[in-house]
Amino acid sequence: MVDVIVIGAGVSGCAIARELSRYDASVCVLEKCEDVCEGTSKANSAIVHAGFDADEGSLMAKLNVKGNEMMDDLSRDLDIPFKRNGSMVVCIHKEELDGLKTLYDRGVKNGVKGLKILSREEALEMEPNLSENVEGALYAPTGGIICPFELTIAMAENASVNGVEFRFNTKVEDIKKGEDGLWHIRTNNGEYVSRYVVNAAGVHADEIHNMVSADKMHIIERRGDYCLLDKQVGNYVSHTIFPQPTKFGKGVLVTPTVHGNLLVGPTAIDIENKEGTATTAAGINELTAKASENVRNLPMRNVITSFAGLRAHLERHEFVIEEVKDAPCFIDVAGIESPGLSASPAIGQMVADMLKEKMSLIPKDNWIGTRKGITRTEGLSVEEMNELIKKNPAYGTIVCRCESITEGEILDAIHRPLGARSLDGVKRRTRAGMGRCQAGFCSPRTMEILNRELGLSYEEITKSGGRSNIVIERTKGEV
Ligand SMILES: Cc1cc2nc3c(=O)[nH]c(=O)nc-3n(C[C@H](O)[C@H](O)[C@H](O)COP(=O)(O)OP(=O)(O)OC[C@H]3O[C@@H](n4cnc5c(N)ncnc54)[C@H](O)[C@@H]3O)c2cc1C
Repeated sequence: MVDVIVIGAGVSGCAIARELSRYDASVCVLEKCEDVCEGTSKANSAIVHAGFDADEGSLMAKLNVKGNEMMDDLSRDLDIPFKRNGSMVVCIHKEELDGLKTLYDRGVKNGVKGLKILSREEALEMEPNLSENVEGALYAPTGGIICPFELTIAMAENASVNGVEFRFNTKVEDIKKGEDGLWHIRTNNGEYVSRYVVNAAGVHADEIHNMVSADKMHIIERRGDYCLLDKQVGNYVSHTIFPQPTKFGKGVLVTPTVHGNLLVGPTAIDIENKEGTATTAAGINELTAKASENVRNLPMRNVITSFAGLRAHLERHEFVIEEVKDAPCFIDVAGIESPGLSASPAIGQMVADMLKEKMSLIPKDNWIGTRKGITRTEGLSVEEMNELIKKNPAYGTIVCRCESITEGEILDAIHRPLGARSLDGVKRRTRAGMGRCQAGFCSPRTMEILNRELGLSYEEITKSGGRSNIVIERTKGEV
């Protein structure tokens, strides 16, 4: 029996777990996949939104602005990259200039600092590759870019170091309130019992909610397709360039990523499929056409991969973070669509505050609030590199040529708390396989390391858990 079970190890679940780890309570995270950050948290625009989009007074607005403000300290404490590159909402039709003023006013009411409406000339001076049709722009200096994998993984690692248990490959199948007054959670890996449950299951949060409540919830999966472009064109724009928002969301953006690529997307297509993350040619054509309205001569020849993520959209378009009325001690964290990544630190704090109050939780005096990330070799001088190799020769072997990732970094990713067990696990922690060749070169080498370090046979090694095995069987016997 534990005090709290959190269902889902996405950015919401991991933020909640980290905040709860401050207190003297037993906490366990159940995740159906083999690693953290396998749901929507791995496929989004990676923007820390300023907070002018969401309606004034909404929970979305409040948590977005707060989460944004928390990001500087959090990224420093968890040793993850975060950059306030600033964002621009571009207007290309004179008759829509009023829309910028509406966004500006909403942003000011939401508490967003430093907003400014730019003239055509000012906008073009800041971003020379904007469309020639630009009429004006809303500039938000607090907008930022982050790595969603590193944010989620770092919060999970920190929670784990502070005593939170993570159970992977553990899918919640049913939840019942027992006669003992506790929650009995049936999974494919046995039963778990807890006093409180937090439902942070992303697009599956409706299924989990509907297991305990008569007031049914319905999440619509809203797919967003993306193209990721090579680092060669990573500086094509330096701010995050948005069009004016519509009722389907913030629209197709063009942005540098915190690791120096260029990202274009997403589309917004409602589907009824919780696993529907395949991109389509129509989606890619649409995002290319829309992005080209705001940014001229987009270098789409430099696309290195495409992917799609699913927004957990609720009809009311609002975060639902509350105790379920007909299921006391069960807290929903549902409808966490954009700006959920930006808001995640504030979501974690809000849920921990709710539970602190309900359970009279007492802060631990030995809580560790910081975490040291993987030692990166990128950007080191020859002298620094030599020093590192002297201490550990594994830093002298390059495994991923595109991103210059060394064996030392991969070993660190495997052996740290909640370490990588699959190719994608290594990729998201180190960037080995994220580059131009998309793991064509380094996969066999990373497999050798996983085989050697974890004692996994080649047939057992997967791309991302489940049945994503790479090697099915040997075609020749041992020589
Ligand atoms: C196209 C797109 C663009 C976006 N862009 C941005 C952006 O730029 N900035 C921003 O702030 N936000 C953005 N978002 C929103 C952001 O990505 C999400 O709000 C956030 O990732 C949601 O995190 P989560 O933890 O709630 O859900 P998820 O990351 O989906 O995590 C839920 C977890 O629950 C697990 N799970 C589900 N069912 C079960 C079960 N039965 N048992 C056990 N585990 C289960 C899943 O495997 C998953 O790991 C975007 C979203 C999309 C789709």
